[in-house]
Amino acid sequence: MKLGTKFIHAGAEPDPSTGAIMTPIYQTSTFVQAAPGQHKGYEYARSQNPTRTALEAALAEIENGKYGLAFSSGVAATDAVIKLLEPGDEVIAGNDMYGGTYRLFSKVFQKFGIKFLYIDQTDAANVEKAITERTKLIWTETPTNPLMNIADIAAIAAIAKQHNVLLCVDNTFASPYLQNPLDLGADMVMHSSTKYLGGHSDVIQGALMMNDSGLREKLYFIQKSCGAVPGPMDCFLVLRGIKTLHVRMQRHCENGHQIAHFLRNHPAVQNVYWCGFEDHPNYAIAKKQMRDFGGMMSFTLKDDSIENATRVLSSTKLFSLAESLGGVESLINHPASMTHASIPREERIKNGLTDSLIRLSVGIEDAEDLIDDLNRAIG
Ligand SMILES: *Cc1c(COP(=O)(O)O)cnc(C)c1O
Repeated sequence: MKLGTKFIHAGAEPDPSTGAIMTPIYQTSTFVQAAPGQHKGYEYARSQNPTRTALEAALAEIENGKYGLAFSSGVAATDAVIKLLEPGDEVIAGNDMYGGTYRLFSKVFQKFGIKFLYIDQTDAANVEKAITERTKLIWTETPTNPLMNIADIAAIAAIAKQHNVLLCVDNTFASPYLQNPLDLGADMVMHSSTKYLGGHSDVIQGALMMNDSGLREKLYFIQKSCGAVPGPMDCFLVLRGIKTLHVRMQRHCENGHQIAHFLRNHPAVQNVYWCGFEDHPNYAIAKKQMRDFGGMMSFTLKDDSIENATRVLSSTKLFSLAESLGGVESLINHPASMTHASIPREERIKNGLTDSLIRLSVGIEDAEDLIDDLNRAIG
């Protein structure tokens, strides 16, 4: 089955009691039993809810996995994965990843005795070098935020298998339209469904997908025991979002392509970070593992001052200044003062995240209007 057909039909069955084509929002906390233990698979809505069940089936299908689990946020999904581990275990993470993931690892889990290593994963050999007897998990995010670096999922998966270590890939930036980490050998895929899966900036939610039934049992146990489950209305919103993922992503990619090239040719722009340029350092891997290059990118200005960046950031009209990404509307963000402000300036600049770096989540408006908006703002 092709992608578009899959996204529209994934997890969708007419409601058995009425034939409703759209999955009903089962806004209920509990389910009545005929006699103790005599129920239809639903007892209490933290453990199971029919709207969530439909979504979880859809989540599995869109990542070519056997199982899907939905969480109340992307970080709640990440939290569940780390709860598979024990004190003393080690995790190899990336050195350029979502700030909230770094905060969860370093500020919450480290004090429970789990050790996190942050390394450059654009070279898979670095991952292999970092593995010790205590390594239990590799956490890979690709493309990375905000510099759009690419890690080779298949190469890292092969290393993980060889050393009997789990690999979880944060696939939020790419979405299942652009890449499917389970097909490349990853054990788990994580999504912030808040972004491209939901697609309309109206819901916070997370997802995990996997093929191994033992892993699914452990993660389901954590989901119901820790309780970070999404409500039925939010499950409905993500189910609805998934149905248009392919048409939205197609436009995100087309607009992304045009805007990346416009920026690259602009005389006031210094660098553009977008994985679709043939001279991007990881272009060959991006081309191999992704179907297209998406609508996320960053750029720096020749006048690399915070003042100049601030001027641009406050002058766009169609690009709204806000955190988050993946919605139909375009967003503009300033990592140095917003998402990555907690990183010391020197450290930040050493990693290429300069004062004027601006991140774009290119939406699905008409590209000409978006280019006019940026052109006016950059000046
Ligand atoms: C937003 C985001 C998360 C966290 O997801 P929430 O839904 O905000 O909890 C994790 N990883 C990436 C890459 C993200 O962009």
